[in-house]
Amino acid sequence: MINRIERTHTVVELHAVVQKWHDANLRVGLVPTMGALHEGHLSLIDNLAEKCDRIIVSIFVNPTQFAAHEDFDTYPSDINHDLSKIDSRVQLVYAPTVKTIYPAGYATRIVPDGVALGLEGDYRPHFFTGVATIVSKLLLQTRVDVAIFGEKDYQQLLMIRQLVRDLDIPVAIHAAPTIREADGLAMSSRNMYLSAAARTQAAALPKILNDLAHNELARAVAEQQAQDMLLATGFESVDYACLRDAETLAVPNATTKSCRALIAARLEGVRLIDNCAVPNT
Ligand code: AMP
Repeated sequence: MINRIERTHTVVELHAVVQKWHDANLRVGLVPTMGALHEGHLSLIDNLAEKCDRIIVSIFVNPTQFAAHEDFDTYPSDINHDLSKIDSRVQLVYAPTVKTIYPAGYATRIVPDGVALGLEGDYRPHFFTGVATIVSKLLLQTRVDVAIFGEKDYQQLLMIRQLVRDLDIPVAIHAAPTIREADGLAMSSRNMYLSAAARTQAAALPKILNDLAHNELARAVAEQQAQDMLLATGFESVDYACLRDAETLAVPNATTKSCRALIAARLEGVRLIDNCAVPNT
């Protein structure tokens, strides 16, 4: 099947292929990824296959969304492994080089406010600027009709919806639910950094998240219980374990219609994030 998938590193080739599709009135979708593809990524492709005639998967480990102390240099990268995971529902893999995305003289960043503030924005201050910039570039380079993002990165998803709205980027943004391992841990390229013992411990995170989402005690008490449970289960530190307005990520108030439970915590130095909907009472 691999030989049926075109692959390009250049914007010129990308434009030519997408133009041909648009000329034929085909609906084109994009699945942006950083590679190290797993079932979570493949579910985004499944989801888009129902909505689009042609699918592009981009693979680019974006240096500007990593801080100096983070794992850019060790981020898993194996294009052949990724190509072997993708089937014939994908027509084009766009895998640009860093020079293609950020050529000499590149000097523009998009700094999102609003939903990008707080939570991940507090603990990874560079992160959303890097993501907003690369996603804008990928959307403008590919000129797709639809792009899809995972709820696994919930704040990122809200930030991208805000970005597209604010900058009038002509693309529909779709969201896909989080795909989990059999024990409930959200699939993530970073799970492979965990030792076998820590991998077993990590399954506590989605359970604690679920308890937080269903906790009927006062919000601050529920959040504290979740934090205490994470630490008691062996997580070294908890960046946040909280309930937030599902649309704005503000602390819930009388006008909040629905809530989201969100956790970021470290195990063996690996930062794991997860979130889920809070059932409306
Ligand atoms: P990444 O390669 O980690 O940047 O992720 C690329 C896309 O896949 C993002 O939209 C993520 O939210 C999404 N994604 C990552 N993990 C999962 C998962 N377990 N389930 C569904 N989508 C995911």
